[in-house]
Amino acid sequence: MSFKSLGLSEPLLKAIQKKGYEIPSPIQAKAIPPVLEGKDVLASAQTGTGKTAGFTLPLLHLLSNGPEQRHRPIRALILTPTRELAAQVYANVKEYSEFLNIRSTVIFGGVNQKPQVNKLSQGVDVLVATPGRLIDLENQGVLSLNKVEIFVLDEADRMLDMGFLRDIERVMKLMPAKRQNLMFSATFSKDIKKLAYSILNNPIQVEA
Ligand code: AMP
Repeated sequence: MSFKSLGLSEPLLKAIQKKGYEIPSPIQAKAIPPVLEGKDVLASAQTGTGKTAGFTLPLLHLLSNGPEQRHRPIRALILTPTRELAAQVYANVKEYSEFLNIRSTVIFGGVNQKPQVNKLSQGVDVLVATPGRLIDLENQGVLSLNKVEIFVLDEADRMLDMGFLRDIERVMKLMPAKRQNLMFSATFSKDIKKLAYSILNNPIQVEA
């Protein structure tokens, strides 16, 4: 099994090589193909399994194959529970998109919003965000989610533990109904299954 055989494009293979990855991790091998096919995916994966590349690589592949967007609406939203995780995921997005014409940024609370607003105003294809700051900036009219094509909910179990259910529901209402959804969680409680049911359409289920 190689990254190439999963169907990822050359610019992504180049970035993967630069990172020094030789073979896909189990979650990557299982999650990347259905995401590339445009399917919704429900993945059970802990941190450390390579889950971030599992959703970031195919997401970037899909976006970079789409038509060039002049005004750069946000086309992919990756929601994470904490700012540390948001920063980490964003660092991955930056690295994997090095050889692509894809712009990305990250927003989270607890810091001045001005630099984030400036970056957003230049247009980004991929936004990594924590729920509070995302909703705040949307309310201010700084960003719009009405062109989102791919939605990723990372560490969904931690999201619920931190009380973000209402925020997730609000964010969902701001995106087009027709979109691709990916949900990652380390555990699968009844509440997580309920959330998955409300977000995903005929999901492919994969496990690390
Ligand atoms: P994650 O589970 O996404 O937090 O990733 C855990 C660590 O594994 C990160 O440091 C990644 O850079 C690394 N990693 C991800 N995919 C691979 C791979 N296919 N081969 C080697 N390392 C990887």
